[in-house]
Amino acid sequence: MTTNKKEYIRKGKCIWCLKSKPEVGFYTKPHTIPKKLNSHNIGFDICDSCNNFFGSDNKLDKVTYSVDKVLKEFFNVHKFLLTNKKDSNSWKKFKSQFFNYYHTSKTLKLNIDYRRNATYANQLTRKFKRGIYNIFLQEYHRNTENGLDNKFDRIREFVRHDSGELPLYYLKSSDGVRITEDLELSHELPFNDYGLEILDKYGFYHLSMTGLNFYVEATAKAKLNFDYLIKDSKYQIGTGFVFRELIELKKLNEIDFTLRNWN
Ligand SMILES: [Zn+2]
Repeated sequence: MTTNKKEYIRKGKCIWCLKSKPEVGFYTKPHTIPKKLNSHNIGFDICDSCNNFFGSDNKLDKVTYSVDKVLKEFFNVHKFLLTNKKDSNSWKKFKSQFFNYYHTSKTLKLNIDYRRNATYANQLTRKFKRGIYNIFLQEYHRNTENGLDNKFDRIREFVRHDSGELPLYYLKSSDGVRITEDLELSHELPFNDYGLEILDKYGFYHLSMTGLNFYVEATAKAKLNFDYLIKDSKYQIGTGFVFRELIELKKLNEIDFTLRNWN
């Protein structure tokens, strides 16, 4: 390896496998959120082999698509739905590995039979969850440089080693999907003082991207603070205009992929 090649490194240890140089290298540009989601944030302390792991398909898995690809696919089809105008013909070119699009109802439906392909559906859901936790820790570390803290070992186990289980909570929309963000802007996760204080105190992080709203169990503290989650989600739901209810995501088709009463 050449010595003048740029390294993406700050703490000197990979936040996923906890290995350092020279055992691993840090030469691959680590996008904290997949580039195809219109994100340009470059992280650090993500080694070449972990970076490659998240971006590579695995023929041995039942769901062969990589963690990155599953996440990309879901957020991109969601974005398609939000930006596709009724009078445009762009939907005719729509292609997806997981979705069928119904133009008259402006609905995306997962093309997986959940009863007949239960194992596949469960694994796809698990990969999506790992993808969400993946961008959480990468963006958290990019913002705070504290991603190596051992309170995130559970996330490392789940995301990098596909072991254990972490819940993902989802705020269901009342009336199809609404969007409050500018979709053309680069995506990033905010870690302001308030969000960090909540994370520290209660263990939860509210993750919102392209109008989809999740809560991740950032640390084990969250287990003791379920009442915080209930309270905060009730506050978000308010009168029920935007959100209807909080659920723990068990199947990907519980995410709203329909646009209704929306101009
Ligand atoms: Zn690594």
